[in-house]
Amino acid sequence: MTFELTILGTSAAVPYHDRWLAGQVLNVQNKLILFDCGEGTQFRIKALKIKKSKIDIICISHLHGDHIFGLFGLLTSMAMEGRKHPLSIFAPKGLEDIVDITFKNSAYISPFPIEFTEVDTENAAPVFEDKTLIINAFPLSHRIPATGYCVREKPFPANIIPEKIQEFDIPFDKINAIKNGENYLTTEGVLIPNSELTYPPLKPRSYAYCSDTAYDERIVPHITGVDLLYHESTFMHEMAAHAALTGHSTAKQAGQIAHLAQVGQLILGHYSSRYDNLDWLLNEAKIEFKNTVLGIDGNTYSVDLQRFNA
Ligand SMILES: [Zn+2]
Ligand SMILES: [Zn+2]
Repeated sequence: MTFELTILGTSAAVPYHDRWLAGQVLNVQNKLILFDCGEGTQFRIKALKIKKSKIDIICISHLHGDHIFGLFGLLTSMAMEGRKHPLSIFAPKGLEDIVDITFKNSAYISPFPIEFTEVDTENAAPVFEDKTLIINAFPLSHRIPATGYCVREKPFPANIIPEKIQEFDIPFDKINAIKNGENYLTTEGVLIPNSELTYPPLKPRSYAYCSDTAYDERIVPHITGVDLLYHESTFMHEMAAHAALTGHSTAKQAGQIAHLAQVGQLILGHYSSRYDNLDWLLNEAKIEFKNTVLGIDGNTYSVDLQRFNA
């Protein structure tokens, strides 16, 4: 069961050499979620052999061009490829107007339903939930309203140990109850505790997307304990004043947030074009949070399934 993040672009504001603009695809058990859609996103999706027909959810952080200018091309290409099934887009106020006015002025009507949900950029709230996962949105601190997203898998049912079914002669109609945590009473009246009948449950996995934002500790409770955290790191800390002024973070600050939130791994990104050598940013963040990696265009970061107490 897959849980992996593919980074399409890591450049801030403008494309830079081999760094494209903001965009990433999270695959959760074969459900694809696109975060942000900078210019060139559909090229990156094609180059990385990601099936765009399987993207049913797009989460937009904010309406700066480097995060949304790829949307029009992506939506119209989806239509050209025969898409008929609906697409959900979560975004701060205004995106639906932007898309509407663009399509209206080019006399274009989408052949598939595009369902916009306006995200509250001042209060954290769940925005999506299905059998597999839940997506929460939470406020970021940027120059315009911006939102982060946290995706968490739903708890997995316990797996029954096959040999125990035979050993205790468990009838078929009791299996589901045991998977959901019940004990089992044998025909002889012996109570078998659930923990003896099942493997420890699988740990639900999680991912948080924080771009673009100034250093803001109010983010921490919304991302605490996630397996993967993508936090923007536009600048080195020597530019902390400029970062604060422009609503961005330094690599050191990204590390501090990862440390406070006790995440599994920190992925850096949204790099200023002033940096050729990203190792400077990596080293700076690592002082604050050891398990930090560079977000690199085209790279995939996955979380393996593990059992509790394993
Ligand atoms: Zn940006
Ligand atoms: Zn921005």
